[in-house]
Amino acid sequence: MPQLAKRMGRAKPSAIMAVAEKAKKLKAEGRDIVSFSIGVPNFLPGEHVYAAAREALAKDSGQYGSNRGADALLDAFLRHIEALGFTGYGRMNVATGIGAKHILYNLAEALLDEGDTIAYATPYWTTYADIAEVLNAKILELPCPASQDYKLTPAQLDAALATKPKVFLFNNPNNPTGMVYTREEIAALADVVAKHPDTWVITDDIYNTMVFDGLGYHNFVHARPELKDRVVFVDSLSKTYGMPGWRVGFMAGPEVVAKALTVLNSSHITNVPEVVTAAAVAALTGPQDVPTSKCAEFQAKRDLVVDAMNAIPGVVCPKPQGAFYVFPDISCAFGKSHGGVKIGNDVDFCSVLLEAKGVACVPGSAFGEPRAMRISYTCPSAQLPVGLQRIREFFAELA
Ligand code: PMP
Repeated sequence: MPQLAKRMGRAKPSAIMAVAEKAKKLKAEGRDIVSFSIGVPNFLPGEHVYAAAREALAKDSGQYGSNRGADALLDAFLRHIEALGFTGYGRMNVATGIGAKHILYNLAEALLDEGDTIAYATPYWTTYADIAEVLNAKILELPCPASQDYKLTPAQLDAALATKPKVFLFNNPNNPTGMVYTREEIAALADVVAKHPDTWVITDDIYNTMVFDGLGYHNFVHARPELKDRVVFVDSLSKTYGMPGWRVGFMAGPEVVAKALTVLNSSHITNVPEVVTAAAVAALTGPQDVPTSKCAEFQAKRDLVVDAMNAIPGVVCPKPQGAFYVFPDISCAFGKSHGGVKIGNDVDFCSVLLEAKGVACVPGSAFGEPRAMRISYTCPSAQLPVGLQRIREFFAELA
């Protein structure tokens, strides 16, 4: 019997999907489940997006398209990022892919040889580790616990970059913590990045329109435009426009990197499909009222979740300022029991919580932080207080 490639021994299915699958199964069995697990925006794009897709469908040529992305899509993305403060980029600086996940995978392929090091802050989005492991890259984790609001400090970054990792991957606003770096924090980190010219920087900023409290979205190239020759900005339609299944992701950065991704696209996806491209252009260039109103809704939900978590004795819950996640430290529950079932760690906690109360959260160890769990609060507004109340009861019942 022939064997799979060795790299498959390092490949793992997404840990987040595992919780979502279990919740789905319990729901199918008739259980009343509140899902705080999967990071989907849970809203639909505006009607103009569907109209554009229908129109394209009526005249879709069905031919292969550009490996980089259709000109109309590249131009729409360029206009979109100009509004975010990314100026001086042209078509040669951008490339498209099947979601930001595909862009990140391609960037890892393009920038990392086997054994090269990729550095990122912990907690991190699970897929970073999954991609690095498949490609046999070394991972340098930079621990950012709740006590430092899950944020990377300039001193930590300086020490990490002094070891010359090939890639530094930065995520702002952050999944799973929801944390957002202020203009000053970004400027201080950008100063450190500028000191270390041997490292590529990927900024995975797909939640850039979901920033609360008037904090604004900031990137290293805003603080230091000269970093444009090493910083790769990653964006996606998934969260901003409620279009996760349409699978459109982007990068903007040095020409050589955008070219590399275009070449990789030519070896697998060939192109983002034409109907999807038309919908994507409509999302980027059409009315922006959906993302704006969702941001306000998420900010109000964030307040509910943070207040509920911090009211539980022993739980430490830094206040996130973006995305749609809250990441409380729940380690005060470890060593206790619920209904006679022992809770040794975050995985036990989430599993017993799901079984006992029908609330699905993702254990923090999926993100490299086993003292916490992730609450994704995009569920229908009426369900949110129900789920939070059940978590409160669960803690109160621990013995
Ligand atoms: N980066 C982060 C931080 C994410 O949370 C996600 C999706 N959960 C992605 C990238 C991938 O997004 P996409 O749907 O565009 O592949």
